[in-house]
Amino acid sequence: MKKSLATETQVVKALKNIFKKQKVVPSQHKLKMLVDSYLKTKKTVRLVSEQRLRNIAVRSGFIKLEIHSRDGDPERVLTKCPVCGSVLKRVKNLTIWGGEVTIEFRCPVCGYWTGKKKRIPTRYVFHLKT
Ligand SMILES: [Zn+2]
Repeated sequence: MKKSLATETQVVKALKNIFKKQKVVPSQHKLKMLVDSYLKTKKTVRLVSEQRLRNIAVRSGFIKLEIHSRDGDPERVLTKCPVCGSVLKRVKNLTIWGGEVTIEFRCPVCGYWTGKKKRIPTRYVFHLKT
């Protein structure tokens, strides 16, 4: 059987089809399985990696990512989003009482954010945007 890389258009089409039937896909692995079965044709297997699939879903405009995470190393330097690879924005917050400044990093593309403990994504839930 032939194998070829699925185009972004093919993946978006698969995603649209999947989210027509359900509003939530509980994990990246599950989403990959659904997309894979949609992309399967008789002569060609169309491939998409989980990472690429996640990026396409983020960019699609109709899917919202819910990011589950655990605390990471506060010393870690984060410049790029661990979810989608975009450049993170630095946000300063003044706390009301102490006047202390906390630094947060936010991703303008997928909504990932982190404070001092650099959040490490562990699971993704995909929601249809309403
Ligand atoms: Zn991101």
